[in-house]
Amino acid sequence: MKKSVLLFLFSALILLLMPVQSHAATTQTKIILDGQELNLPNEAEVVTVRNNIMIPIRVVAENLKFNVNWDKKTQNVNIQQLSKAITLTVGKQEASVGNSTVSLNMAPQIIKNTVVVPIRFVSEEMGLTVVWNNKEKTVTLASPTFPPSSPDNGSQNDELASLTSLPSSPANGSQNDELASPTSPPSSPVNGSQNDATINLVHEINYANNQLVVSLDHEVTPVITTLKNPDRIVVDFPFTDFGNMSQPVPDGSMGKLSTGDIPNLTDVRYSLFKNDPAQVRIVIELNNVSSVNYYQQYIAGKFILDLNIVNASKPAPPITGSGKRIVVIDPGHGGSDPGTTSITNKHEKQFNLALALKVQAILLQEPEIEVVMTRETDIYPTRSERVKLANDLNADVFVSIHGNSVPSSPQITGTETYYYQRASSKELANIVHKHLVEAMGLYDRGVKNGSLQVIRETKMPAILLEVGFLSNKSDEEAMMSESVQTQAAQAIVDGIKEYLKL
Ligand code: ZN
Repeated sequence: MKKSVLLFLFSALILLLMPVQSHAATTQTKIILDGQELNLPNEAEVVTVRNNIMIPIRVVAENLKFNVNWDKKTQNVNIQQLSKAITLTVGKQEASVGNSTVSLNMAPQIIKNTVVVPIRFVSEEMGLTVVWNNKEKTVTLASPTFPPSSPDNGSQNDELASLTSLPSSPANGSQNDELASPTSPPSSPVNGSQNDATINLVHEINYANNQLVVSLDHEVTPVITTLKNPDRIVVDFPFTDFGNMSQPVPDGSMGKLSTGDIPNLTDVRYSLFKNDPAQVRIVIELNNVSSVNYYQQYIAGKFILDLNIVNASKPAPPITGSGKRIVVIDPGHGGSDPGTTSITNKHEKQFNLALALKVQAILLQEPEIEVVMTRETDIYPTRSERVKLANDLNADVFVSIHGNSVPSSPQITGTETYYYQRASSKELANIVHKHLVEAMGLYDRGVKNGSLQVIRETKMPAILLEVGFLSNKSDEEAMMSESVQTQAAQAIVDGIKEYLKL
């Protein structure tokens, strides 16, 4: 991990040196929350920093009636959102949300005495629907309870009928009273100018490898609902219409994707569900919606809904013929690649191997697991070779073991676990991380999405453990201790077994 840590520090440095481009007073920015324009105090405004739309968090959270505290000393913004506590720190790309740590695409910053945070955080962690109109410099936010549009009677179909019967859907009576409150006069700026300019366009919809991929010209956070009878996942893109589609645009009825013969999947269809404002709906119909975990994200401007179909009734096919589950353990680095160097000048590759061999020893006692090591001695298999080994075996689980390091900041401490995109990997990461953090007793740095080759190119649930910081004195001491290694190895095995339901 040494190179990537250095690379990260280097990019962080560049970031610090980059001038902040903000929209100066020439263009007045606006925030519209649930149909009302917010009064932005003094110099608070929406700014663009390196292509990230950042919004003043305090004014938004306060208008949502959340408690907001700013601690100048720690540079922390604390938000109490119903039962969930959110803590953001200026300059830190991680935030704590409830019990977990999440990564931000850009750290909160102070601009003109106001803390601004990436708009994506507000949509993903606070559950708001967000639309940015770059031309008008307007952010439109809608809280989950806000009716997405006026009730329209025209386009009633089965999807809508099921939706309106859901307990969580806005009831007609009380919500509309709130809408018509005196603070939201009918002549509010939302109704007049907003619509045409803020409509996003869908250009392509695909479904392959258990992923729904939607190409849009702007990132818009969809509302996702799961429904029963028939079982389906409904993905609604607000303020969105069909653009220059590469497949037939449905006219009145629903379009259908050809998905081939995918187990558990019935079909994927799409339609322009509403007009004025336009709303695109995509429906994924399945045999059993409760057997599906999903995970949503944007990658390179494409919305991706990653479905992980857990088929509990069918055991994984025995690949080796032994019927055992195959677990690949990958001690990072080795041979000519020492990895990072610890504070007492030990090589990361030694720690990785020592811990991995303890994991192997415990797994060898497991009657239902076959353990395969990418290396058992001080040699260097390339990362591609490690990936190929696991993929060729069609392994059930891949675990790569590493030690972290930031030599310039020896105070940095803690355990973190990486997965890459796949919901199955994320689930494995959460489970193993929980056990490992407990065993190591170090600071919990959380579970993170990271594009690292061995977890990106492997096809099975795959994780990379950064057990602790070899550049930190007390982390290193724990990591080099035989007894702590034994506990950590047991924790990793416990996590693997819990994930495999063994
Ligand atoms: Zn490493």
